[in-house]
Amino acid sequence: MTTKIPTVTLNDGVKIPVYGFGTFRIPADGSTYKAVREALDLGIRHIDTAVAYFNEAEVGKAVRESGIPREEFFVTSKLWLQDYGYEAAKKGIETSLRKLGLDYMDLYLIHQPYGDVPGAWRAMEEAKAEGKIRSLGVSNMTPKIWNQFVPQFKTMPFVNQVEFNPYYQQQEIRKIMAEHDVKLEAWGPLGQGNANLLKDPVITKIADAHGKNAGQVILRFEVQEGIIVFPKSTKPERIKSNMDIFDFELTESEMNEMRGLDTGKGVHNPDNEGVAEFLLANYDVHAND
Ligand code: NDP
Repeated sequence: MTTKIPTVTLNDGVKIPVYGFGTFRIPADGSTYKAVREALDLGIRHIDTAVAYFNEAEVGKAVRESGIPREEFFVTSKLWLQDYGYEAAKKGIETSLRKLGLDYMDLYLIHQPYGDVPGAWRAMEEAKAEGKIRSLGVSNMTPKIWNQFVPQFKTMPFVNQVEFNPYYQQQEIRKIMAEHDVKLEAWGPLGQGNANLLKDPVITKIADAHGKNAGQVILRFEVQEGIIVFPKSTKPERIKSNMDIFDFELTESEMNEMRGLDTGKGVHNPDNEGVAEFLLANYDVHAND
């Protein structure tokens, strides 16, 4: 028995499963293949990867070998900083398609919003028109970065993938995104395994009331809040338990208690000085070219 996961429709009509599987920090030593196959076997159809995770090839192999029809799975990848600007982005898109072994990606994001973002966006818009990408988005855009770049885009992003968990609920950017019906995708939806979050007494109390665990309550809260999630785990029992959130509902008062946990701060502030330089120094997606 596999769980049926609901979808949400992006502003361009593309349907995206509200629950997927994240692959950041899963090595390409067979572990990514194994974890993605595990997730697919359980009924997950949405996989989030990036060229900077160095595991696109294993994600692609896993979805292709699963036997699941292409139109039933949803693969997101992301363009890395080194490949911004129009020409470089065109090549970056082709590289991701080749590594994934797919004719098209379902969603493609500007991973880190620094440098020639508008040039990269133009190449992505073209790739969408050519059918190489079904939907487009950005990631790590704060209100400041959004206001810097998005007014230069011809078309609006359809998603913004940002850090989100009950301790960091992104109130400011959500207001801007809501005006344009841009969906929020949560990275780090479990606070990247933050032990304090997973032991938070408000969350464990709600979990006990529903016979669920803290991770399930966090993910249920996020999905009920209209947010798209794709927690990562390499542990089969967690991959299975994390997705077991579609048979219960948080009450409005429980939702409000969860909303009350917001501290307005996360682990990463994209507005900080030097972020682009740090990322470029630490992730070289062309190291093996
Ligand atoms: P998550 O919030 O999904 O947390 C993953 C961590 O939590 C892992 O260490 C995992 O360990 C642990 N974990 C998973 N389930 C549980 C559980 N039920 N109880 C306790 N611990 C648990 O963080 P991610 O950073 O992975 O975010 C999700 C996805 O978002 C990424 O995989 C990636 O696809 C994307 N992402 C995008 C970013 C961006 O810049 N756009 C940045 C970061 C992530 P274990 O594997 O041992 O179970």
